[in-house]
Amino acid sequence: MNGIDDGKEYSDRTGIVIAGGGFGAMNAAMALDRQLERGLRAEVTLISRNNFFLFTPLLAEVAASLIEPRHAVNPIRRYENRKKRRRA
Ligand SMILES: Cc1cc2nc3c(=O)[nH]c(=O)nc-3n(C[C@H](O)[C@H](O)[C@H](O)COP(=O)(O)OP(=O)(O)OC[C@H]3O[C@@H](n4cnc5c(N)ncnc54)[C@H](O)[C@@H]3O)c2cc1C
Repeated sequence: MNGIDDGKEYSDRTGIVIAGGGFGAMNAAMALDRQLERGLRAEVTLISRNNFFLFTPLLAEVAASLIEPRHAVNPIRRYENRKKRRRA
């Protein structure tokens, strides 16, 4: 629930900021997603310079032209839960 206190907007949800869009960040985001589904009251914001997640283990296959570069990246929005608690 949002409210106004001395002209400043506040929320009773805990604010959680995830920095980056790599393996650690995406694992944290997905774990928090599950907790949000279970009722965690938090406002989760993911800050990433890129709007995609790079799956580095596939880079060798990209370099060898066995797969296309687009096969090693996924849009971060795909990992957002339905409540849209994160922004990239
Ligand atoms: C070619 C290659 C193959 C690999 N294969 C494997 C494998 O098979 N198995 C394995 O276990 N590991 C593998 N790794 C290692 C694995 O990718 C890393 O261990 C893992 O990515 C580390 O995760 P991380 O979250 O710490 O960092 P990263 O995944 O690198 O994420 C860091 C994030 O922080 C962001 N960031 C950095 N600085 C800033 C800033 N100043 N402001 C905002 N955002 C910032 C970056 O943009 C990035 O999104 C491989 C790595 C490479 C390069």
